[in-house]
Amino acid sequence: MENEKTKLTYGQSWKLNLRAWKIWWKLCPSIFYSTLASSIVKAVTPYVTIFLSAQIINELAGSRRAEELTKWVVLTLFCAAGCTLLQGVFSRWANYEKTSACHMDGQIYMKKMLSLDYADVDRQAVFDLYSQINQNTQWAGWGVNRTLDYFEELVMAIVQVMGGIGLSISLFLLKVPQESSLAFVNHPLFAAGMVGFMLLIAIIAPLCSNQSNRYWVSYSSQAKLGNRFFSFFGFMCAYSERMADVRIYQQQEKVCKPYLERDNSFKPGSDISRYAKGPMGLWVALSQCITALLTGVVYAFVCVKAWAGAFGVGSVTQYVGAITQLFQGISRLLQIIGEMRANGEFLQTSFQFLDIPNRMYQGSLTTEKRSDRNYEVEFRDVSFRYPDTDQWVLRHVNIKFRVGSRLAVVGMNGSGKTTFIKLLCRLYDPTEGEILLNGINIRKYRYDEYIRIFSVVFQDFKLFALPLGENVAGSAEYDRERVKKCLSDAGFSQRLESLPKGLDTYLYKDLKEDGVDISGGEAQKIAIARALYKDAPFIILDEPTAALDPIAEAEIYSRFNNIVTDKTAIYISHRLSSCKFCDEIAVFHEGEIVQKGTHDELVADTAGKYYELWNAQAQYYTE
Ligand code: ADP
Repeated sequence: MENEKTKLTYGQSWKLNLRAWKIWWKLCPSIFYSTLASSIVKAVTPYVTIFLSAQIINELAGSRRAEELTKWVVLTLFCAAGCTLLQGVFSRWANYEKTSACHMDGQIYMKKMLSLDYADVDRQAVFDLYSQINQNTQWAGWGVNRTLDYFEELVMAIVQVMGGIGLSISLFLLKVPQESSLAFVNHPLFAAGMVGFMLLIAIIAPLCSNQSNRYWVSYSSQAKLGNRFFSFFGFMCAYSERMADVRIYQQQEKVCKPYLERDNSFKPGSDISRYAKGPMGLWVALSQCITALLTGVVYAFVCVKAWAGAFGVGSVTQYVGAITQLFQGISRLLQIIGEMRANGEFLQTSFQFLDIPNRMYQGSLTTEKRSDRNYEVEFRDVSFRYPDTDQWVLRHVNIKFRVGSRLAVVGMNGSGKTTFIKLLCRLYDPTEGEILLNGINIRKYRYDEYIRIFSVVFQDFKLFALPLGENVAGSAEYDRERVKKCLSDAGFSQRLESLPKGLDTYLYKDLKEDGVDISGGEAQKIAIARALYKDAPFIILDEPTAALDPIAEAEIYSRFNNIVTDKTAIYISHRLSSCKFCDEIAVFHEGEIVQKGTHDELVADTAGKYYELWNAQAQYYTE
């Protein structure tokens, strides 16, 4: 087997399973109650039937007393009906709980994803782990979800073993008459040998079947890349926004097909299919043969004892049934333990992801809720490199924002403007230097409080396929009048009037057939309205008018003061004409602030970067 991983010990995999159960227990303890009840009833039911039928046959083959027979028949009927009823009720309950749990499985990872340091969300290694978990779940259900099945199977197997021992122990204790030529079966060593032999067979069978599972584990890392191709190219058509590109560039033929053809992870000639046809299949077949052998041995032993006169014919059915169940229980137990070990390796990946630590310092200071919105922010000699990279993206940035002022950040693509904003919002911590809010390092504030003072419209903002009003408010409950006001300030009032259901109109058609598709410019206005609704003391707009037509853009600027009111505004743009009205302009170049000042001051410096950028754009308008 290629890519063989270091095998986990049974102890290690048991610990991993326990941890997964603890997660489920916290999320939904009723899964365990319902599964416990349903598994016990499922495991006990066959024994009830086996025991009662044996009594009926014994009576029939023996004294044949009518009232005894009636008693056993009625009891059998009642017990069988009762068990079936209980089984139905508990299985439904357990199924209901398990189906709900399937949805929770995704939430476990989603919660973690949302609590990760933002710097980690971006990292390839983290993305890799996350998609590996999804891959494991999707291709054969491996991972945290699977542990619920193991709980059910374990309970069943344990009850099955206990019930089997209870009903079959007398088989070994009852003796054939001493005068019988088969009296040697009474010898304790014979009984012990028989038990030992049966146990051996019962152990070997699941071990063979577990060998087969090992191939899944070994193949998981081998199939990693293929699974990614498959997940991406196989489901690409689900993304309608890609469809135009796919058609124009015929990507389905030229890009997707070759990748899918080149990778054969899941095709008939793949390694896993060879394993399945070869060793995996052989191990499973061997396991089945051994189980059949076990049944034969059980029959032989019971029949020999009955024939020699140790017990009646009714007991034959009881012992054969009970012993078969007992060894099935043992087999099941061992098989589950083996599967738990295989699954342990998948759980390791899950926990590796869930254990990613939060390295960012979590402060405890509250940001005072100042009615005067008198917040002051300072970047003090801030330099920054993205995690796992060597390149300085910001270098020795020093800047202080005056409260209530409008700051424009300009510069060429890649000069570090967006990164500057990400540091301000503490999505990343500076590599060197510090950022201060009212003289205190922002790391010392509680992050949830700190983030409340910013409204940001990022360049690559995203809206939900939910009603317009909920998108703006970021909540299902909201103040409709305030939402309308924000939409109007963002220049969306005319479009709002044309929407069939006003604020209740769904955006996009993902969730509602009568949802509306909106243009990039309209989406940008909604995103601006969302920032306004948050009503934070700082409003940050990263290329807020990039998708707007010139009229909409002019409209936004003419109302910029209404939009921003007394907030501190930071405004990123490479359209310099739109920055003229700002109190201060910071010019970024290759990660440094190379100039600062008002438009008039900066444009007067003919040797400066601002002048160069200004002229580069101005020539198209003046020529
Ligand atoms: P601007 O907003 O001025 O266009 P950015 O701040 O987006 O510039 O990017 C500045 C530099 O940082 C660019 O060279 C970009 O490639 C790099 N960069 C941006 N995001 C990341 C990231 N997540 N990881 C590594 N490098 C990044």
